[in-house]
Formats: sequence, structure tokens, C-alpha cells
Amino acid sequence: MDTTDVVIAGAGPTGLMLACELRLAGIEVTVVDRLPARTGESRAGGIHARTMEIFDQRGMLDPLIARGRRIASGHFAGLPLDFTDLDTRYPFTLAVLQSVIEEELDIRAVAAGASIRWNAPVTGIRQDADGVDVEIGGARTIRAAYLVGCDGGRGAVRTLTGIDFAGTDATMTGMIADVELSHPPEGPVFGRRRGAGDYSIIQFEPGWYRLMLQRYDRALDRGAAPDFEDFRARFVEIADSDPGMHSPRWVTQFGDAARHAERYRHGRVFVAGDAAHIHFPAGGQGLNLGVQDAVNLGWKLAAAVRGRAPEGLLDSYESERYPVAARVLHNTRAQTALSRPGPHTDALRDMVASFLDTDEVRRQLASMITALDIRYETGGAHPSTGYRVPDADLRVGGTDSRVHVLLRTGRSILLCHKWIPDIAGWEDRVDVIETHDRAGTRSATGSGGVGTPAAVLVRPDGYVAWAGDGPGDGGLTEALTRWFGPAA
Ligand SMILES: Cc1cc2nc3c(=O)[nH]c(=O)nc-3n(C[C@H](O)[C@H](O)[C@H](O)COP(=O)(O)OP(=O)(O)OC[C@H]3O[C@@H](n4cnc5c(N)ncnc54)[C@H](O)[C@@H]3O)c2cc1C
Repeated sequence: MDTTDVVIAGAGPTGLMLACELRLAGIEVTVVDRLPARTGESRAGGIHARTMEIFDQRGMLDPLIARGRRIASGHFAGLPLDFTDLDTRYPFTLAVLQSVIEEELDIRAVAAGASIRWNAPVTGIRQDADGVDVEIGGARTIRAAYLVGCDGGRGAVRTLTGIDFAGTDATMTGMIADVELSHPPEGPVFGRRRGAGDYSIIQFEPGWYRLMLQRYDRALDRGAAPDFEDFRARFVEIADSDPGMHSPRWVTQFGDAARHAERYRHGRVFVAGDAAHIHFPAGGQGLNLGVQDAVNLGWKLAAAVRGRAPEGLLDSYESERYPVAARVLHNTRAQTALSRPGPHTDALRDMVASFLDTDEVRRQLASMITALDIRYETGGAHPSTGYRVPDADLRVGGTDSRVHVLLRTGRSILLCHKWIPDIAGWEDRVDVIETHDRAGTRSATGSGGVGTPAAVLVRPDGYVAWAGDGPGDGGLTEALTRWFGPAA
């Protein structure tokens, strides 16, 4: 029987990101996928600011920026949301195909030492007090300390573990075709609402366009796999014309079913990404959610494998990530409702659009879609705790740096700006870094609306576990113990 520390079912973006995180922490990992090889399907069309920050925290962003296109906005139910004044280094949507993201993550995971096995479906799971036996294709077994199901909405791990996936069924059908156009519209993004539904055309890459349509008069027929001519016929039904579509790369259809795993953990088995939550791809949030699940779970699982996870650490994965996904399911349902055809929805859209003219409202919605506003219950009294740490410019040891670069080790850091607290007994798990201002550059103001604290304890996933404004500021020992266990 093969053995490893963690088996990850599914080599999609969630599974690959988790593999990268575990390898960064030195954990042995085997990724198994039921497919014979990567499909290369385009799928998701972009990532948002928080995911870009997370990739930056691991030094993985540059190749994606190089292969993507910056769009200064996002949308809510098709209503444009300007991102340019968001408090991040990445105030834009990065239009980059999921196939490209998977390719880059795959390269990174393999280079870091992850083993990826194709033609390897999970078909059975048996867990006991010490580990889990993962049956592959009914023939082989891999023994691991933990199993994580990153095997998508119809994956086996959640089902085999008996975790319920309750929610709402599809009420409508969306279709996508990635094509070339003989008569493209003006501008990079074009959309129209019509009687039976709506359609949009986005220029994706030079010469390539993503055509999307949504129709509300029929729910998704799961049995039907559309081909390009089906797509063309449906598109013309709604748009009344064909912009000369040809040379399809990918055609698909999807519905607005929204389901959420009742639990993210059953003993030694976890679910993450689409295996834990599915929803309509409105606003482009699903892949982002999965990557962020992986980064939340990775360091906690690594601590557990090493036998150093404090009480409750593994359960904090669900308590932190479940509400984030619930909110996405909620906002995508709202977006579907706000997209239906008819004069009542038209009136509602006009009103919502006028609210979005108010900067504060627009920024609030944009911060939610981009996941920049997430705040976990990390404890601690300082107003910055629980938020993502802003990527401030700093000087460290006489060299220019910035916070996200300091997080690339995948370890927790204690940034000491004006005061170096004593953390004797935790130096093996937390790196103490003395920092100085970099004159005239980006400061550490941001999430939580506070200035640079004297010292900040940042978890490996980039969230503030504790912050203090000077000696005597209490709670640091509690925070270190809560997140990293007792002093050595
Ligand atoms: C048309 C469309 C457009 C989208 N646009 C966006 C967007 O713009 N932005 C965004 O953020 N999200 C978008 N999404 C959502 C995004 O594609 C998903 O959220 C994302 O793929 C989830 O990644 P995942 O790794 O969790 O699951 P998946 O990508 O589904 O990967 C699961 C993997 O598990 C494997 N698997 C399945 N069963 C087993 C088994 N029994 N054993 C082993 N392996 C198994 C599968 O082969 C697959 O490789 C879109 C989705 C669709 C359909």
C-alpha cells in the first residue's frame, strides 16, 4: 500500500493550490484525478484582487499577470462595478483563463515535489483514529493522515463521506462559447438584455471572444451536452443576429443550482472548492473561493500532520470559510434574480444602478465580489485583527521589501515596526521581522481602517492574528497559543 501525508482528490485549481501550500510547508502530498489528463477547457475567465494578492504572497502572480489582461472593473448582475479605487495593488479583474491558471499551478506544484496521478478516481474511503485509506479505481489504496476532496461539485469524496449538499435547484440556463468573430462589436465588453434572456460578448484574447447567454424560460437540462451549432441557434434566438462566430474553442452550459456542504470536515476528511459549494458563475467568484479555501486549510493541515495543531485549529477551516461561501451563494442568487427579463426587473436594475453611483455603496459591493473585505474571527482587540494584512512597502535589514514578499516562506510572521515583543518559545513557528518605513511609498493603512500598528502577527494565509500599538498591549500570548500551540 502507498503512503503519504495528505491525499488530495482533484487536480483542479483548488487541489493544485492546496498541493502547493502543503509542499511549501514540507508535507508529502499525492494529488489524484479521475481524468486521463488535463482537459485544457477554458472555464473560469478571471480572478479578483484578493486571489491576486494570495498568488503574490506565494510569488506565483507574475506569470499570470503576464498571460492575462487587466480589466478595470467587474460587475454585479451585469451592472458595471469600477474597481480602480479599491485599496489593493491589484484594483482590476485579471482576465486569465482557468486552463492557464491550472497550467501554472501544476508547474508550481510538481516543481515543489507534489505527485500528481491521472486516471486515479477516488472510489472508496475508510478512516480510523490514525489515518484514512483512500481507494483508487477500486484497485489500489493510498494510506494518508488526511484526505481533502477538491473533486468538484459532483465529486466522490463528499458523497462517500455522507456530507449533505443542500441548496436550490437550477431555474435557468447559461451557455458559453469561446469563439472567433467575423463581425465583433466595438469595445472589449458588450451586453444586451432581451425578452427571453440576455447575452454578452467579451474580448478575451486578441482575436478571441467569449460569448455568453442566459435564458430564464427553461432550467438546465443536465442530460443535454450542447454543441457549437446549438449555441449559435440559441444565441440568435436571443440576440436576433450572429456576429459571425466561428472556430469554437469551447462550448458549455450551466445552471444556477446553488448548494453548500453542510460540513467541511468529517474526521480526517475535508472538502474544499466546488466540492464544498456550487453556485451560478455570476461575478466570477468560484475559482477564487476555492483557491482561498486551499490557502486557509493548507497551513492548518500542515500543522496537524506535524502533530502541532492546537485544539480547534482544523475546525477553524470550516468556521472561517463556511460563512464566506454562504455569502457568495447569497450574492449569486441575488444576481440571478436581478438578471431576469421583464419590466419589474428592469425597474429594480435601474434603482440598484443608481445606488451604485454612490461610491461607498459601489466600493462595498466591489470589496465583497473581490473578497477584499473578508474578516475572520481571529480574536484580539485591535481593529485590524481578522482582516488581510495590507501589502505595505517596508525596509527590512536595509533592503526594500513589502509584506507579501515576506509571506512567501509560507510561515507566520511577526512584523515589528516600533517594538519587538518577546515571543520566546514560538520562534520555531513564527519569524520575527524588524521593519522600517520606506519613505514616500505605499503605507500599511487599509483593511480595518487603521494605520501601521507597532507590531502585527500575520498567519501564513495573510490574515492578522494579532496587532498591538506598543509594549503592554495584551493578548499576544493568547494569539500565539490559539494559532500555533503552546510555547516550546
Ligand atoms: C462557465 C463557467 C465560468 C466560470 N467562470 C468563473 C470565473 O470567471 N471566475 C471564477 O472564479 N470562477 C468561475 N467559474 C467557477 C470555476 O470554474 C470553479 O469554481 C472551479 O473550477 C472550481 O475549482 P475546483 O478545483 O474546486 O474544482 P474543479 O475545477 O471542478 O476540479 C475538480 C477536479 O476533480 C476531479 N475529480 C472529480 N471526481 C473525482 C474523483 N472521484 N476522484 C478524483 N478526482 C476527481 C475532476 O476531474 C477535476 O479535475 C466558472 C465556472 C463555469 C462552469
